Amino acid sequence: MTDTQTPLSAPLAELTTLRLGGPAREIVRCPDTRSIVETIQELDERSEPVLVIGGGSNLVIGDAGFDGTAVVLASSRIEFGSGRESGRSHVVADAGVGWDDLVAATVEAGFGGLECLSGIPGAAGATPVQNVGAYGVEVADILRSVQVLDRRSGNLRWVSPTELGLGYRTSNLKHRNDFVVVAVSFWLNEDRASQPIRYRELATTVGVEPGDRVDAAAARAAVLGLRRGKGMVLDADDFDTWSAGSFFTNPIVDGGDAPAVLERIAARVGADVAIPSYPAGPQPNTSDADAPTAIKLSAGWLIERAGFGRGYPSADAPVRLSTKHTLALTNRGSATTEQLLTLAREVRDGVLDAFGVTLRPEPVFVNCAL
Ligand SMILES: Cc1cc2nc3c(=O)[nH]c(=O)nc-3n(C[C@H](O)[C@H](O)[C@H](O)COP(=O)(O)OP(=O)(O)OC[C@H]3O[C@@H](n4cnc5c(N)ncnc54)[C@H](O)[C@@H]3O)c2cc1C
Repeated sequence: MTDTQTPLSAPLAELTTLRLGGPAREIVRCPDTRSIVETIQELDERSEPVLVIGGGSNLVIGDAGFDGTAVVLASSRIEFGSGRESGRSHVVADAGVGWDDLVAATVEAGFGGLECLSGIPGAAGATPVQNVGAYGVEVADILRSVQVLDRRSGNLRWVSPTELGLGYRTSNLKHRNDFVVVAVSFWLNEDRASQPIRYRELATTVGVEPGDRVDAAAARAAVLGLRRGKGMVLDADDFDTWSAGSFFTNPIVDGGDAPAVLERIAARVGADVAIPSYPAGPQPNTSDADAPTAIKLSAGWLIERAGFGRGYPSADAPVRLSTKHTLALTNRGSATTEQLLTLAREVRDGVLDAFGVTLRPEPVFVNCAL
């Protein structure tokens, strides 16, 4: 309730891909960067809480809603350019540009670079926030620069990717609200060629060896096809896509702990079953070059093997795992956020009991918690 005791009445659920969450006090749609800056500055001057929303595809909003103003970024400019010093082409997009519209525009203009990230919902401005990634490419691989509004000083400035602490589904912009991304810029490949195809399933689909590059349009078409098969392209008629995408990140296990964790998983699933695991890069929090490499496990596989199959718990449940992918928790049309969180807790606790591995949520929670 606000201090004037006015009930919250501006519906937020329809602004999220989960279609969940209570109302806000007000929703303001900003059609350009100037209105984003002026609106947020005016709200900050009044100490009004602000919720920045792009496509609402990584947001879980509590049933009580948000006691403040939701600012929807709807800026829409896309500009291609080429750097005098670098000689390389790039694209600059306003934060409100639909991400997949940007990918499509670059491919249609004859550029490669962004195609493996085709079909990811949401707006361009949110992509550095959690270092969006899919099919072997992440934003960190192609990001040129990010323009942010610093809400403390009111200044706009361009920051380089090295300042953003980009990591696996995270950056130092996530879980804070003092910086708002108003524009993003990405490097482009001028030869119509994709990024190297690192993801085996995608390489097989386009008929190349991992590491090869292909026509960007062909890679985009293949990625969209694969994503549709997993319910990972938004479709209002398909409840399997009423989700926040992957609900949990793939767990990263310290190299030192990995043998014991793998042994515990094998004891449960059987020694003859291959456990999907990948090197996760240098060990976090260590400067020791000889430290064992951390491993990344597949959250979807762990969920399935812990007993939560596709469509869990049942066909008539208001919240289910997607029938196409165990990593997506979906609203079947009449759910509440609390029901979603109840299933998320059951899955998280079930995986912990079965394998001793803690799953961490990927979306941002507003006025609710797991
Ligand atoms: C079907 C489906 C598939 C998905 N697949 C993938 C995938 O393959 N890979 C992947 O990485 N993600 C995936 N996602 C998650 C999601 O699409 C991405 O995280 C996306 O970048 C979120 O963008 P958004 O505009 O919807 O952000 P929102 O949900 O609107 O916002 C998410 C958070 O970022 C903040 N935020 C939004 N815009 C800005 C901004 N301009 N400046 C500062 N903060 C901001 C919000 O306040 C909020 O805290 C998927 C989601 C769905 C529903």
